[in-house]
Amino acid sequence: MNIKKVNPVKGQTLLRQRNVSVVIEKIYSDGPITNRDIVNSTSISFAKVNTITTTLSKIGLIVQDGKEESIGGRRSALYNINHNFRYSIGCQLSHTRIHTCICNLKGEPLFYEAIPYNKEDGKDTVLKMLIEAIDQLIKKAKIPRDKYLGIGLSIAGLYNPNDGSAIPFPHLVNWGVVAFKDILAKKFKMPNYILNVANAAALAEQNFGVGMGKNSILYLNVGTGLGMGIILNGELFEGVSGSAGEFGHISVDDHGPLCECGNLGCLEAIASTRAIVNQAKDLIQKGVNSSLLDLTERDINKLDFDLICQAALSSDKLAYNLVDKMGQNIGEGIVTLINLFNPERIIVGGKIGCAENIVTPAMMHVVQKRALEMPRRNTEIVFSKMGSHSGTIGATVPIIDDFFKNKINTFIDEK
Ligand SMILES: [Zn+2]
Repeated sequence: MNIKKVNPVKGQTLLRQRNVSVVIEKIYSDGPITNRDIVNSTSISFAKVNTITTTLSKIGLIVQDGKEESIGGRRSALYNINHNFRYSIGCQLSHTRIHTCICNLKGEPLFYEAIPYNKEDGKDTVLKMLIEAIDQLIKKAKIPRDKYLGIGLSIAGLYNPNDGSAIPFPHLVNWGVVAFKDILAKKFKMPNYILNVANAAALAEQNFGVGMGKNSILYLNVGTGLGMGIILNGELFEGVSGSAGEFGHISVDDHGPLCECGNLGCLEAIASTRAIVNQAKDLIQKGVNSSLLDLTERDINKLDFDLICQAALSSDKLAYNLVDKMGQNIGEGIVTLINLFNPERIIVGGKIGCAENIVTPAMMHVVQKRALEMPRRNTEIVFSKMGSHSGTIGATVPIIDDFFKNKINTFIDEK
């Protein structure tokens, strides 16, 4: 895990905690692994490693996972993390759905639910649905309450990392500032962490997805909205007030369509999945021929981005051109990001994933042509394999992080 917060401790305690963290990280990333292999790749003595793995085994955080291949003499035990030692709850309030999951320490979702909500239902109803969704998942999972480390909630919108409040934005304009942290704490009485959806997705990719092992990552969430999570030097960069990465509100066309933020011609108003659906509806209503009419049984209100993807992949000209242009526009945005950040990897995720085969060449053509050569040569652009789950799974990362960094010491001290 990417450990970032350090408790104020002194001398021997600090050294011991650091050793414990190093050993756990080694087992987490390289397990199954022997004590000897941990010693060989760290500067910790065999005696100390042996004491730490013995203690972690007693607690139950690590388990023996077979023995090493025989190379003569005694075969040493291989250790691995017991990923089901504790669990965390991940939630996502996206533009259209409430997602909930229960993940183990490896970020594997053991349970996952997504329920649609109607933004016209209003704040009180949707918040009630969120609480109910978490409640239902806890009941379904039948996991003892003390096995939960906490709840992580990611929000499509602006949030304040200092007090855990957020403004769902721009789709829920009348909600104002919502004290999500207080609401969850009051109802569930366990630690909770609030973050932005794109930031959560970036953390999921860095820890469990196609960003593993990378230190500078930009995660682009291209769906109904268009957001970005930024990982710099291995750490999440949130900006001074938590709103860094509002990539979708870069103004690209002064005469473009009105964005929900109030400005004209934001990238989100041109290249989000919602924008593409609106553009397709507009063209069909103007009489442009398309198989989308049959796919929606001639009810244009049924049109969504998945159907446009399906039509585009079947060579429907209208759908193909729209998705191709979407790729070019996202490519324009990526050019700016490459020039500004010089990132190791840009990960494209969200609903756009279904159009990967059309978007990629369109996007790459623009990037090859327009980005500065040196940063471009060092930036890989890949698609996420986690789909829209990353914003939910990633919400558990700060909870899991806090466990390995801080809470584990409480378990050890109790032994
Ligand atoms: Zn905007």
